[in-house]
Amino acid sequence: MARIKDEDIQLVRERVRIDEVVEQYVTLRNAGGGARKGLCPFHDERTPSFNVRPAQGFYHCFGCGAGGDSIKFIMEIEGLAFAEAVERLADKVGLQLRYEETGAPTGPRRDPGQRQRLLAAHKAAAQFYAGQLFSASEAAPGRRLVTDRGFDQAAAELFQMGWAPKSGQALTAHLRGMGFTEQELVVGGLARKSARGLFDAFQGRLLWPIKEISGEVIGFGARRMFDDDFMSGKYVNTSETPIYKKTQVLYGIDLARDPIRKQSQAVVVEGYTDVMACHQAGILTAVATCGTAFGESHARVLRRLMLDHDAFHGEVIFTFDGDEAGQKAAVKAFEGDEEFTGQTYVAVEPRGMDPCDLRLTDGDEAVRELISSRIPLYRFVLDNTLERYDLDRGDQRIDAVRDAVRLTASVRDASKVDAFLREIATRVGTDIDLVHAEHRKAGQHKPAAPRATRAAVAEPEPAPEPAVFASFGAPQFADEREALKALAQFPHLAGPIAAELTDEDFVHPVAREIWRHMAARGLPTGPDSGWVPAVSDALPGDDLRRVLGVAAVEPMHASEQSAVAVVPAVMARLQELSIQRSIADVKSRLQRTDPTAPEYQEVFGQLVALEQRRRGVRERSLGAAAP
Ligand code: ZN
Repeated sequence: MARIKDEDIQLVRERVRIDEVVEQYVTLRNAGGGARKGLCPFHDERTPSFNVRPAQGFYHCFGCGAGGDSIKFIMEIEGLAFAEAVERLADKVGLQLRYEETGAPTGPRRDPGQRQRLLAAHKAAAQFYAGQLFSASEAAPGRRLVTDRGFDQAAAELFQMGWAPKSGQALTAHLRGMGFTEQELVVGGLARKSARGLFDAFQGRLLWPIKEISGEVIGFGARRMFDDDFMSGKYVNTSETPIYKKTQVLYGIDLARDPIRKQSQAVVVEGYTDVMACHQAGILTAVATCGTAFGESHARVLRRLMLDHDAFHGEVIFTFDGDEAGQKAAVKAFEGDEEFTGQTYVAVEPRGMDPCDLRLTDGDEAVRELISSRIPLYRFVLDNTLERYDLDRGDQRIDAVRDAVRLTASVRDASKVDAFLREIATRVGTDIDLVHAEHRKAGQHKPAAPRATRAAVAEPEPAPEPAVFASFGAPQFADEREALKALAQFPHLAGPIAAELTDEDFVHPVAREIWRHMAARGLPTGPDSGWVPAVSDALPGDDLRRVLGVAAVEPMHASEQSAVAVVPAVMARLQELSIQRSIADVKSRLQRTDPTAPEYQEVFGQLVALEQRRRGVRERSLGAAAP
């Protein structure tokens, strides 16, 4: 067995910026005091309680209690083992990890992370395929299709389009030559195994590499080019593998990530060529699902990118066909998450053209116009509903209103319901009172229960804590909590005073235990994002780790600038309290001592010394607080 050297794990923590890691998945905004905040990726929430402290290399969610360092974050969000997460981060910062042997020396060398290997294989595969498209003569039909769809070589290269050779052996041979194992190719979905051996998963197909938000290739979309293709389906995607999860994948998200953030807009189209057409036309926020319907996981990815000032203000624009399937999809989306629905728009091309066809026929400008002609989803659904009625007939108008008010069932915001009802009245051409009456009638049959359930599920209560941990939240321990924060967030500033602290200066057992581990580790003399994670590792038990996590991220009422003054003051305050406790003890002993006894003078001397010490600490804390 081999394991990664401890000092290399530490190096990874120091070099990796946790906010940069988290920002691959969650948009963070500055929350003051050096902290950053976003929507928690580990539970469903509408207001951000997910805190990240770059200087401490730590994150903590006050909603669900999730917390840890950058390694833990990657483990949790990607479902990786510890070593795999470390390897992934090391890759990101260009650090060559060293391994040391543990246990049986004759055992096989540990596989340095399956995920890393699969990603490396996909990267190599994408490069290989891309090289084929514009060089291999057999790829001519592929090149023709690229041109026919209105793309030049530069566009194909931007999306790293590729060609899977017909032979069925080329990629396998190439990757085997690079040292990838048979098993890696099969598990990664790049090759298949048959009785006659290994053969390429895609043969004679035009390819689009599917990438993660970070830009890493995790699979391929493949278009059929030949009639004798052994695979059925015009388009085939990589099947589920350890790195490819279709319910979360959005094609183009690697390129669209930053534009989506900046513009607070995402355009969801249907195919690979539609994404390309949009990007070519200047709609840089376009993405597509890969062989699956747009679902809650996809919505979550987009929502996290578009977080803006505590709330989700972005708009998601779907390009639906005007056809039956598109309408069904729209109605289904309408019945989903209400907040998401409220910001959902539909861009419908009247002739039923997708963005790629539209660009071919009418050019880039037409694609931009299509997107800017978006209408709110509710209006689109309303239009589709009303279309089924002949609004020139009185009886049909009543049926239309009855049908339309049902659409408000999924809208919880009363003001929005009212606006919607007024729109129905206008569109149908009827009195608003009639619409209100139908709405009231519909409401009487409407079960109210599911709403409450959904609200309850949305924000889970934090897990109950054992009594000792709960008591640490009591007001009398506020100074100790503040001191832990000072130590965790600004250890290099707290250090000079912390050097004089003893275990007794902390009263609460939780604070004392964490302090003991901090002291054992030694306080860093300068900013060190690897320190808190290292202390966290050493702590026995998740509850202690969680308290440390909170201390590392909870705002201190001190900005990075004022920390120089505030932190020593907080530490001095802790010392002062501790000295006060000793003074109380000594005074009590003094009261119980006979003034004529010889030990009285000794105890009295202790009291004087303590009072002196207290004054010193107080002066120091005041001195530190001066500008
Ligand atoms: Zn959370």
